[in-house]
Amino acid sequence: MAEILGEKKICNKCGKCCRLISSTKSYDELCAEAKNGDNVAVNFLKLFLPYESLTDAIKIDSHVVDSLIEMNKLAYGEKTQTYFYYCRYINEDNSCNVYNMRPKLCRQYPKNEFIPVPEECSYSGYSFAMREKVKAKVRKAKEELLDIKIMRQNASERSVLERLNKLEKKATQLIEEYKAFGSYGW
Ligand code: SF4
Ligand code: SF4
Repeated sequence: MAEILGEKKICNKCGKCCRLISSTKSYDELCAEAKNGDNVAVNFLKLFLPYESLTDAIKIDSHVVDSLIEMNKLAYGEKTQTYFYYCRYINEDNSCNVYNMRPKLCRQYPKNEFIPVPEECSYSGYSFAMREKVKAKVRKAKEELLDIKIMRQNASERSVLERLNKLEKKATQLIEEYKAFGSYGW
């Protein structure tokens, strides 16, 4: 549950963000990692419990489940498995049992504008606007790459070529940063 736009005024407390946590790691894998001292796994397991089946997660919101599965496949490969968890601290009425001590992860939700949010989430419009901003930036970077290609054909000075290389690197990095969310297709 986020604070980005003032949570108390905006979050409609559907509780879905606390009930649909995804990971590419199974509960057994996370337990093994936690046993080996992996702090990320330890902290994850302090909060989240696994669903017994995918069907249980789908009952919360099938669209979000499908979107998260697709997102992970795009990011990590077609064979990637996605596992779903829910928070042990969410109450029946969707309030948080540890509200004042909830982790940063919860306070900042949905920090990443490309993380699928439920349709009824109060932040869905905000996320959409942020995604469109990023897409516009990526499209601009693609145009810049075309311009750089043309400019390079006419450039001979070392300083100019170096400058073009820097610009090319910056534009390529931006497109690459959003690769997992489909940037090459925008
Ligand atoms: S700690 Fe609270 S806000 Fe965070 S996921 Fe759990 S119930 Fe939700
Ligand atoms: S999904 Fe959105 S509206 Fe629902 S509890 Fe989370 S932040 Fe609030």
